Amino acid sequence: MITSTTGPQPADFADVRATNLAVVLRFVREHAPCSRADIAASTGLNKATVSSLVADLIDRRLVRETGLTENRVGRPATMLVLDGSPYAAIGVEINVDHVSAVAVDLAGERLLTWRRAFSGGDSVNQGVAGVGAIIRRVVNRMTKEERQVLGLAVAVPGLVDVQGTVRLAPNLGWRDADIGGDLAKALRDPGFPIQVDNDANLAALAEQRFGAHSGASDLIYLTGEIGVGAGIILDGRLRRGRLGYSGEIGHVQLDPDGPECHCGRRGCLEAMAGIAAVLRKIPSPAEIQIEIEESVRLARAGDADTLATLDSVGRSLGRGVAVLANLLNPEVVILGGYYVPLAPWLLPAVHDELSDRVIAAEAGGCQVVASTLGHDAAALGGAARVLDSIDSGRLPGGLSRIP
Ligand SMILES: [Zn+2]
Repeated sequence: MITSTTGPQPADFADVRATNLAVVLRFVREHAPCSRADIAASTGLNKATVSSLVADLIDRRLVRETGLTENRVGRPATMLVLDGSPYAAIGVEINVDHVSAVAVDLAGERLLTWRRAFSGGDSVNQGVAGVGAIIRRVVNRMTKEERQVLGLAVAVPGLVDVQGTVRLAPNLGWRDADIGGDLAKALRDPGFPIQVDNDANLAALAEQRFGAHSGASDLIYLTGEIGVGAGIILDGRLRRGRLGYSGEIGHVQLDPDGPECHCGRRGCLEAMAGIAAVLRKIPSPAEIQIEIEESVRLARAGDADTLATLDSVGRSLGRGVAVLANLLNPEVVILGGYYVPLAPWLLPAVHDELSDRVIAAEAGGCQVVASTLGHDAAALGGAARVLDSIDSGRLPGGLSRIP
């Protein structure tokens, strides 16, 4: 099943009990260890209802009692924490030359991190067959550990519509591809939902749940690859726009006379501040890592040419970030991908441009930082999206409504 909704949306559920189960589960996730009385006091549900809901969550092995008691006046209470040991959420990121896979348990603890070489092949079919084989191995591993897979979300670098269809992934050569449906077939209808989303969107969800700025309600993640895309979280929710195509900051024009962009236009942000601008050429996927390491080495050694290039790229990037800061007033803009190792040389120029170009004082409080989640942020975000679905009421085990 392909679904497109994300984020907690309890109001969408007709089933009051499923909604209340989700409310209690989220409370335990955020406040564990906590008691039944804490849940009742904070959620406004009465104590009998909370006891019944907690019993249900314990039955489903989503919550367990720790046996600890609160150190406070009054009768000691049994404390609750997340369980989820029999479950796994899987996230996969498809890239030009590799596939990353991550599995986490309900509490977000990492169960598996894989990176496998991958070539998209000559067609979507070959690409899906390759990715499907990797996913099947991940699922087998989880099954061997006696875990039920709650869901899978796949990150693709490109335009993915709200239905999860990949409309255009230029670097993979994919167009109008129902990757989710194809993967469900390749996995022989695995019995868990498969979602497909843009890589920047999923990386933003990973930052929101697991990153150094987790819990920030206004957060933007910028991918730093050949392409530059933004995953935008505002007021706590991912903002996809009408068809799902928001966040294409990489094709905001910074300079009408600038270098040609692979989209055919001139002076786009990604032509001026993407990895090709850092390396001053379009590297082959296999070379990027090595070339970036070389740039870092040269920058550390004080190589004037490299420092000038990084300063210029940082300024272009800063102009793009200033557009985001003026338009959306985020709390933090997180630089991901290959921007991470280059951040020490990019950030000073980015900050200069921000103070010059953002009309609000101190850039409207916008911080710009490097991601701490590493190169599998989008894969981790896939797992985060599965956990978001659980938190919004799609609980395993029957009672919840699966839209
Ligand atoms: Zn462009």
